[in-house]
Amino acid sequence: MRTLLLLSLAATLTGCPKKGPKTVELTAPQDMTLELLNAWTAEVCALIEEESGGTFTKTPHVRLATPTELRQVVVDEAVAMDRIRYPKVPERVLRERYAGMPIAGILGKYGIFTDVMYVDTDTIWSMALEEGGPEQVPLVAKVLLAHELTHALQAQYGDASARWDELPDNDALEAFRSVTEGQASWVERRVATRLDADHVAEAMIEGQGWSFDNGAESAMSFRLWSAYGQGDVWMQSLYDEGGFERQWLMVREPPSESAMVFGSRPYAHDYREPPEGWREQFAGLEAKLGQGSWSTSESRLGEVDLRQMLFAYGEHAYDDIAAIEYGWSRTADLPDRQVQFQRLRFENEDQAHGYLELMFAEPHHQPDEQVERLDFADEAVKIVQAPGSSTGMGTLARDEVHTWWFRKGREVFALHCLYFRPGLRAPEVLTAMLALVEEE
Ligand SMILES: [Zn+2]
Repeated sequence: MRTLLLLSLAATLTGCPKKGPKTVELTAPQDMTLELLNAWTAEVCALIEEESGGTFTKTPHVRLATPTELRQVVVDEAVAMDRIRYPKVPERVLRERYAGMPIAGILGKYGIFTDVMYVDTDTIWSMALEEGGPEQVPLVAKVLLAHELTHALQAQYGDASARWDELPDNDALEAFRSVTEGQASWVERRVATRLDADHVAEAMIEGQGWSFDNGAESAMSFRLWSAYGQGDVWMQSLYDEGGFERQWLMVREPPSESAMVFGSRPYAHDYREPPEGWREQFAGLEAKLGQGSWSTSESRLGEVDLRQMLFAYGEHAYDDIAAIEYGWSRTADLPDRQVQFQRLRFENEDQAHGYLELMFAEPHHQPDEQVERLDFADEAVKIVQAPGSSTGMGTLARDEVHTWWFRKGREVFALHCLYFRPGLRAPEVLTAMLALVEEE
């Protein structure tokens, strides 16, 4: 009796049960039973612990999920991120955005708010067939588990769930995603190597539309690359610097800015306030562009945002002009339009000038995009992207975008008008912006 008690206690303490892997012949998705998935989970948990330096306090709970359940988990997480990005937008409006959105091709997901690993056996089966046949099923499932259960370990060992409530804005969120997805990707690939399943890990990256050699394939996959790809590269550099503990520090005390993930700024956990006067500087100017009750938000503009904006101008566009010192953005929405005011402070005038010059860098423009130099402030540019032109700035094909940039010394200011034609009201707003800057 005493021995039994001690044994079960030991099993609880070590978290993952140490069962051996099973060999079962699989002929249909239904053959992936919960029992089999639990056995794979046990095997993968042990490998994750070895490849991450963390320990599970309890065995992650696995569940065979319906597509509806899986969809719910994905939407809940997307809404949680939007809550940080758009703190003033009501929850109902955030949820409506995902109402009709198709969510397909997801093999499974660890629910960060439910602490459950949801698995879609049909999708795993389809991917295994693409990789060569049913004998690939265990490898696909285990590589998926290696990634997703690293998220479970982040919650258990790194207390990652608590971080979500502390993220001050979008740039901190992007930095935190590079931590969680970067570490999950890094551990996933090391576990895949242990399982002789490098080809599965590579196929999963390819499915996301980016590569370690070339970065994001398109503007659509840019944020996936910055979270998973750049996050993974950064995790390796942290490991080289200080081993697993350095990586776990980032889970517990995430970097406060995306620039730290790209190595442009040294690591720091504390939020860096905007320069005095920036926070509400352009407040109310949106009213000059249309009547109505605008919903507004202010946020830092981080390196990842600037890199995404410059993505259309070529892969080295950002590196060529170097990092911004501080960026700030005010966004105002009406149901049918959006306005963004941006302020970017560069280290010197050359960089600010280089940023404006990039706007002329052919051949990255869309065919129906008009670029014009303006005689305004130290220098200025106007770009009009007609509806139907493709995703140059990460916007949708139907969108009409009117943008003005002007430089004052080492700072660049932008006025973006999305989904509407601002006409003569825009120059009035630009004049007001310049006057506010000169008042400082
Ligand atoms: Zn993930």
